[in-house]
Amino acid sequence: MLIAPWFCDGCGRQNGITRYQCQHCRGLNTYDLCDQCILHAPTLHPHHRFQLIQQAGVGTPTNWVGREQRAVLY
Ligand SMILES: [Zn+2]
Ligand SMILES: [Zn+2]
Repeated sequence: MLIAPWFCDGCGRQNGITRYQCQHCRGLNTYDLCDQCILHAPTLHPHHRFQLIQQAGVGTPTNWVGREQRAVLY
C-alpha cells in the first residue's frame, strides 16, 4: 500500500484520503489530484488518465500490527 505523503497538484492540500494519480506522469514528477480537484481534471490536467489510489493506511493504527507481532514472539 502506498502511504507516502502527497500533495494535490490542483489545490496543494496534503495527504487527502482520496488520491487520483495520473497514469502518464509517473516517476519523479507525479501528478496527483484530490477528490475535489479530480472534478476539474479535464481543465487542470487534460488528456491524461487518472487512477484512484485508496489511502487505506492513513488513519489506521499501525502499532496494532506491531503488538500482534510481539505477541507472537513472546
Ligand atoms: Zn485538490
Ligand atoms: Zn499527467
